[in-house]
Amino acid sequence: MDINAQKILQNTFGFSEFRGHQEDIINGAIAGNDALVLMPTGGGKSLCYQIPMLVREGVGVVISPLIALMEDQVNALTQLGIKARYLNSMLSNEEARQTEREVLDGTLKVLYIAPERLLQPRTISLLQQATISLFAIDEAHCVSQWGHDFRADYLHLNILQEQFPHVPRLALTATADTQTRQEILMRLGLQNSRVFVSGFDRPNIQYRITHRENGNQQLLRFLQNEHPNDAGIVYCLSRKKVESTAEWLQAKGFNAVPYHAGLPMETRKRHQSRFLREDGVIVVATIAFGMGIDKPDVRFVAHLDLPKSVESYYQETGRAGRDGEPSTAWMVYGLQDVIKLKNMRADSQASEEFKRIEHQRLESMLGLCEITSCRREALLHYFDDDEVKVHCGNCDNCISPAERWDATDATRKALSCIYRTGQRFGVSHLVDVLRGQDNAKVKQHGHQSVSTFGIGNDLSADQWKSVYRQLIARGHVQVDSEAFGAFKLTDKCRALLRGEETISLRKDRVELRSKKASRTSTHVSDQDKELWEALRAKRTLLAKEQGVPPYIIFGDVSLMEMMERRPATAKQLLMVTGVGQSKLEKYGEVFLSVLAEFSDSASVTSSFDNELGADKVESYLESLALLKAGMDVPMIAKQRGVKEKTIYVHLEKCIQEGELEVLDVVQLPEEDIDRIRDALFANSDEENRIKLTPVFEDLGGAFTYEVLSCVRAELLREL
Ligand SMILES: [Zn+2]
Repeated sequence: MDINAQKILQNTFGFSEFRGHQEDIINGAIAGNDALVLMPTGGGKSLCYQIPMLVREGVGVVISPLIALMEDQVNALTQLGIKARYLNSMLSNEEARQTEREVLDGTLKVLYIAPERLLQPRTISLLQQATISLFAIDEAHCVSQWGHDFRADYLHLNILQEQFPHVPRLALTATADTQTRQEILMRLGLQNSRVFVSGFDRPNIQYRITHRENGNQQLLRFLQNEHPNDAGIVYCLSRKKVESTAEWLQAKGFNAVPYHAGLPMETRKRHQSRFLREDGVIVVATIAFGMGIDKPDVRFVAHLDLPKSVESYYQETGRAGRDGEPSTAWMVYGLQDVIKLKNMRADSQASEEFKRIEHQRLESMLGLCEITSCRREALLHYFDDDEVKVHCGNCDNCISPAERWDATDATRKALSCIYRTGQRFGVSHLVDVLRGQDNAKVKQHGHQSVSTFGIGNDLSADQWKSVYRQLIARGHVQVDSEAFGAFKLTDKCRALLRGEETISLRKDRVELRSKKASRTSTHVSDQDKELWEALRAKRTLLAKEQGVPPYIIFGDVSLMEMMERRPATAKQLLMVTGVGQSKLEKYGEVFLSVLAEFSDSASVTSSFDNELGADKVESYLESLALLKAGMDVPMIAKQRGVKEKTIYVHLEKCIQEGELEVLDVVQLPEEDIDRIRDALFANSDEENRIKLTPVFEDLGGAFTYEVLSCVRAELLREL
C-alpha cells in the first residue's frame, strides 16, 4: 500500500482501514492507471478518487452532472482541510476567474466541474496549462442512453483521452447492469482498463414490497410505526401525485416537501436544501430527485408507484442508509401500475429495439415484485453479483415467507373468461363476469350467458385482481393499449388452458410490520437519549453557523460512536470513525466538552479500554448482519478476513446492547448456559464486575473464553 494513501485515510478522513476494493483502486490510480469502478452507494466511492488526488501532483478534476451538490461536496472537503473548489454556472465571473487562477498556481487539489463546462474550449485550454493529477468521471452511467439519467454531454467526454493522454481516468458509478457497463467502457474509451465491481449488496437496507390496498394509508402506517421522525424519500410517478402526497403528509403532521422538474428552480433548490440541512425532512419526488444526493442518514425510501426497471429500483432505494445504519426500502404496487407502465411503453415513439429492451426491464421488475423467494438474492442476481445468499434474513420474504397457492383452476377460469368475452375488456369487467355480477355492462354485452359467467364466486374481487396481476407479470396476459387496456391472451397460455401445466401464485397478504419497527436507525437507549440529543444539537448549531448540512460536521455514525465509546481525550476522539486531524482541530474541544458533561452519570464508562479497542461500530454491525443472515462465527470470520476472536468481540457487544441473545451466538444446550451463568454469578463482585479467569478455572476449562464473555454480556445486561 502507498504509505501516503494510508496516512491520508487515517489522518485526514478519520478511517482506520480501507474497505473492499478501495485499496486496489487507489493504488492503481496513484500509479497512473485508468479504471471503471462500480461501487454501491455508501461503499466509499469518493475516497477512491479523492485520495489519489491528494497523493499525486497537481489538481484532480471531478466531473459530475450534479451542480446543485457541488457546493456541499466542496464544503465537505474543506472541513477536512483539503483545498477544493468548483466551476459551474452558479459562480459569478469574478469567482470563476479566482478559481481558474488557483487551478493554474497549483494550490488547488480538487476541482468539481460540470461536463458542459469542462467541454468549453476555455476550460480545456485552462486545464492544458495546469498539472492535472486525475480525472474522475462520477455518475458514469449518465453516458448510457438506456438510463433515465442520460446526459448528452457525457458522450463527448472521450475528449479527455485525446487531449490528456497521460492523465489517468477513473469512471465511477453506483449502479450499472452488464449492458450499461459495456456502454460506459466503450463511450469513454476505457476498453483496456480494469473494472472493479464491488458487491452490490446493501445489507443494512431492508427490502419490502407489498400489494397496494390504499397506498396513502399504507404509507402513513409505515411512517408512523417505523420512521416517525426520520428523513426519507417518497417516490411517485406523476407530478400531480407528488404534490397531493406531499400535502397529505403535511396534513398528517410530517415535515414533507414536494420535488419535481415542473416546480420553479427556486422552490426545488429550497426543498433540496431543507432536506439536506434539517433533520427529519421527507421529500416526495419524481425520479428527478436524488441522484448524487450525499445525505448519509436517509432512513427510508418509499415507492408509491412501480419503478420502470430493477436498475432504477436499486438506484432509488440505494439512496437510503448510506451511513450503513438500518434503513427501509418500502414499496406498494398493484395491477394498475402494471397496466399503466405497459401502456406507457406501447405509446412511446421509441424504436422497436428500445421498446424490446424496456419491455425486458419491466418484466424483471415485475418479477422482483412477485417472487416468493429472497428479494435480495433476486436483486443481486440481476447485477450478476455472485455473492448471492439464498436467504438474507432482511427482506419481507425472508422475515415472513410468502404463501403460495395452487391457482391452476382459478387461472384457467380467468384466462377463459378473457377468451369468452372476446379479448376486448379490462379487469373490472372480467371480474364482474367471473363473479356473476348482473350489471348494465354485463347485460349490454350479453355476458350473463357466456360459460364463464358466475364461475368465480369462490374468490373475492381483490383475489381475482391479484390473479390477473400475476398473470400479466408472468406474461400469460397482455394489455392492449390500443384497445383501451383490453386483456389479451398470449401463446404462453396454451399449455395452461389445455391442462398440461399447473401454476401456483403468490398469496397477497396483510402487510408485514417489521419486527424491528421500534429499532429505527438511531437505536439510542433511553439513558443515552439526552447525550445523543446534546451531540446532535451541538452539530446543528455548528452547521447553522457555517451554512452547511449537519452531516458535513459529523455523520450520525461518528456521533453514535462518540455516544457509545465516550472518548475523553483528543487522542481517543481521533479513534472515532470520521474524526481526522482537521475535524479534531475544528470541533474536538467542543464535542469533548459535551461528552464531559455527561461523563459523571453513574453507569458510564469509556469503551476505550475494553477489547473492542479501535474497532469500529460499523464493523460490529456488519458481523451482526452476517449472523442474522444465517452465517456462523467461523463463516463470518472467513468472509470478513478477521480472527474468530474478533467476531466474538463484535457479537458480545451486540448481546450487551440487547441486539442478540446468547443462544443466537453460542450453540450450547441450555443446561450448559445455566452452568456458566452460575459460575459467573459466583465470581461477581458487589459492583457486578466479573473476571473470567476464575470462572474459566471453576468450569474446568470446559468452555472457551469467547463463550464465557458472551454469556457474561447477557448476564450483565440483565443485572
Ligand atoms: Zn431475503
